[in-house]
Amino acid sequence: MRTLVLDQGYQPHRIVSWQRAVGLLFEGKVEVVEEYEDELRSVSITIRMPAVVRLLRALRGRKRAVKFSRMNVATRDDFRCQYCGEKHPLRRLTYDHVVPRSQGGRTCWENVVMACYECNARKSADTPEQAGMRLLKKPVKPKWLPIIAFRIDPACSVPEAWANWLYWHGTLEEDS
Ligand SMILES: [Zn+2]
Repeated sequence: MRTLVLDQGYQPHRIVSWQRAVGLLFEGKVEVVEEYEDELRSVSITIRMPAVVRLLRALRGRKRAVKFSRMNVATRDDFRCQYCGEKHPLRRLTYDHVVPRSQGGRTCWENVVMACYECNARKSADTPEQAGMRLLKKPVKPKWLPIIAFRIDPACSVPEAWANWLYWHGTLEEDS
């Protein structure tokens, strides 16, 4: 049994063993958000196993920059081609330089979006304006990306009690 830890803002933070979660609970660091059916018994107390807990204090030093990677760009773009808006698994998406490299475009958060191969081919070495195409939204550097801090193995089943808190899970499954 494992426990999903949310940060103070209810964003998925990490996964820990239930023993660790109970430890955090007794240290007063977390509150229980969801419980499993199973009970934990000791001589003096009986508690339900924590399924989801939330940190009571804000995390310090959490301002780690989101790494620029194909997976993280796809997550930012919700796995949608930023031109036609179609949703695809990662393998059917490619990086698109909004301003092409041949026209001085850089490889950075603000100039790279996910595109399907069809749109990418149509756009070719043009800017969206030159190709008569429009971006769904202006690409920006994300401040944070939920759940990307840890990966959930799609082969292992996610406890039902976590479902409400892991809205990226479906997306991650598509990536397998
Ligand atoms: Zn497309």
